[in-house]
Amino acid sequence: MNARSDIEELRQEVRRCTRCRLSDNRTHAVPNAGDPDADFLFVGKMVGYQDDQVGQPYQGEAGKQLDDALDAVDLTREDIFLTNLTRCYPPESRDPKTDELDRCADYFERELRIVEPEVIVALGKLPAERLLGRSVEVEGEHGEVYTYSSLTYSCRLLVTYNVGAAMYDDSVRGVIADDLSNVV
Ligand code: SF4
Repeated sequence: MNARSDIEELRQEVRRCTRCRLSDNRTHAVPNAGDPDADFLFVGKMVGYQDDQVGQPYQGEAGKQLDDALDAVDLTREDIFLTNLTRCYPPESRDPKTDELDRCADYFERELRIVEPEVIVALGKLPAERLLGRSVEVEGEHGEVYTYSSLTYSCRLLVTYNVGAAMYDDSVRGVIADDLSNVV
């Protein structure tokens, strides 16, 4: 087995997953995307409505914000690995609940073991808090590079904004790209 076949197997598993209640109303489960040999693993909070419709992460305007931030540091989606803490769209875009996050966490741990990134890019407060195990204020900590450490893996972790925030706040757009330049 290699990274590509391992990740494809995991994607198929996610598409069939019914571990938590978020499977009840989804159109599609949305597995990870991108290069399983990438140096950069981007992790967001959850999938959006348009992601749910097509079964791919970061569609629509949020996806455009991501693409623009990547472009500013000479990266494309093909250069990175992209995933979320939860992989099924929550009703009315509510935040995922703790038990849903817990049930989906195993997929992230497996993704991490397969990809072995040099840097995790935490897109927003919830991914940063889950991975650092403490409260995080993105306004004060974006651009900071910390150490992610679990029993099986450690690497650098960059805190930045959820790209969805850039949809509503023009000032955040350039900030995400600036933060990325600290690790790219
Ligand atoms: S959110 Fe995660 S754990 Fe819940 S059903 Fe979807 S893939 Fe499974």
